[in-house]
Amino acid sequence: MINPIIAANWKMHKTIPEAVKFAKQLKKEFPEPGDVDIVVAPPFTALRPVMEVLKDSPIHISAQNMHWEEKGAYTGEISTAMLVDAGCEFVIIGHSERRTLFGETDGMLNRKIRAALKSGLKPIFCIGETLEDRESGTAFEVIQKQIKEGLNNITSDDIKQIAFAYEPVWAIGTGKTATPLQAQEAHRFIRETIATDLGYAHASKTVIIYGGSVNPENTGSLMDQPDINGALVGGAGLDFESFAGIIKISKR
Ligand code: PEP
Repeated sequence: MINPIIAANWKMHKTIPEAVKFAKQLKKEFPEPGDVDIVVAPPFTALRPVMEVLKDSPIHISAQNMHWEEKGAYTGEISTAMLVDAGCEFVIIGHSERRTLFGETDGMLNRKIRAALKSGLKPIFCIGETLEDRESGTAFEVIQKQIKEGLNNITSDDIKQIAFAYEPVWAIGTGKTATPLQAQEAHRFIRETIATDLGYAHASKTVIIYGGSVNPENTGSLMDQPDINGALVGGAGLDFESFAGIIKISKR
């Protein structure tokens, strides 16, 4: 049985007071560990203050990005040690905004995943096709390449620490959700691809979450799919009521 992950990616939103207020609400609403792992990914400035609120709660903290080098002259970057220090347990790697707006390649993401694993951070590795890929019938080819290159030279034991987020780029922030069947089909393909490295016994325990315009209305039908193990939530994760609603529906 897989514990689903419901994660809010706050992107470049929320000042420290706003992030702390949300974290306090979340801690009050979900004080006990449950059958859903709740994760919040605040901006860097709010990581430590959010950690101070959530440290004695079951809610986990994720960073949104990281650099693969341990330290050095990399102005504007942040290391895994700094993230661990600030209370992070997870790190989002390969979000489509990082890939498209900041030029992150599969090779760079592979270095990030390896550095994250070395430091004990659990990667939430994002993969997904563009609308063009889907319309030209190459969606699965693209996803397979992202997985193969992202996981290059990573041992099976390490792959077990990774959660995968299937995020079709055309569904992110657009209000267009993949249908539950489209998402299920992609999640199944991802699980099969992972199984080529891990074998089915382990791949069946890999957490694969869906991201792309998830909201309280569509969560139930997505979570009903056998290969969907949670959600990575952008827009609806900024609003406490919506995010809490998504968590409660996922607990069914
Ligand atoms: C995201 O950015 O990861 C995301 C899924 O955003 P949204 O929920 O707003 O589509």
